[in-house]
Amino acid sequence: MSPDRQETRPLKRSRTQAAQDDLSGSQPSSKMETTLGDFERSEEFWLEDGSIILVAQQTGFRVYRALLARQSTVFSNMFSSSTPNAEEMVEGCPVVYMSESAEEVAHLLHVLLPTSQRTLFSRNFSFSFEQISAIIRLAHKYDIQDVLDQAIASLAHFFTSDFDTWERNKKQVVDVTLAQSICIVNLARLVDWPSLLPVALYQCALLGSTVLGGYKHDNASVEHLHPDDLRRVIRGRNRLAKEANEMVAEIFISDPCARCTTRASCRDALRRMLEIAVADDGCSSPEVLRSWDCGIENWGEEEGLCDACQRAAVERDTTARRHVWNKLPDIIFGLGVDGQVADIEANDVISETA
Ligand SMILES: [Zn+2]
Repeated sequence: MSPDRQETRPLKRSRTQAAQDDLSGSQPSSKMETTLGDFERSEEFWLEDGSIILVAQQTGFRVYRALLARQSTVFSNMFSSSTPNAEEMVEGCPVVYMSESAEEVAHLLHVLLPTSQRTLFSRNFSFSFEQISAIIRLAHKYDIQDVLDQAIASLAHFFTSDFDTWERNKKQVVDVTLAQSICIVNLARLVDWPSLLPVALYQCALLGSTVLGGYKHDNASVEHLHPDDLRRVIRGRNRLAKEANEMVAEIFISDPCARCTTRASCRDALRRMLEIAVADDGCSSPEVLRSWDCGIENWGEEEGLCDACQRAAVERDTTARRHVWNKLPDIIFGLGVDGQVADIEANDVISETA
């Protein structure tokens, strides 16, 4: 996808330069330097031998032009269009104005021009959600594919389309709250990465009505779901609650397992465990991917369920969650084949919520 070039002003004439031109009537000289314009030097990214200055909001980043151009065809095109007649030069460097926030540009430069943590392979992944989301947006816009792939991979560890991966990776690489999952949905749409969607929509569904309020970023801007995705989430939440009921039945309505040697007492234990589960909030909670294993273990011990029947119940729990996992993309959230967006009728939502 091509970036919005109109957002980027390749070169803006400074007021000083314009005034000089008006007085002299001469063409601006590419060699003529202006004083520092309406920006301050970045403390971290003002490299004395840098060859281009990126300005975002009120911050100037003096960095290496060729190094950025090599990593991004968009930067390369942007910079080449700024020469040889640069209208605004600061300390011999052309100045390029960017539409992003200074924080977002800094997050990207941390990846493209690392000044610390120069480890070839690090287990200590320390990017925050705000950093990763900024890196994804900018790497997408500026066509820096390897950075984009790595940033998405850090999210895909948790926002996976594979149940076994989900079961293994309970801990997130990037800590993403339920509300931040709203932004994950939007990022997945932006970069066309549909495999992030099922878990992200599921997380949004767990928000309940607070999903309507959107997510408030560090900079106070609020991000909302697209209305189509909001419908998916509301419809999905209702369907998940129905699935929760069916899962309790699948797990707890069962005969003792084939290896059971205390069938009569295990049959009674399973019946009492079903009563406890039905009375539990989890029975109608949309949080269907959360395992009942703790309940099976604790209630099983209290009610005298044998070890073999406990293991069988845990297996039924995993099977039930795998079953509902497979329903997430299409049946629960109405994503089409291969994760593409399927049309959702407005009255479909109304009928589900009625
Ligand atoms: Zn048993």
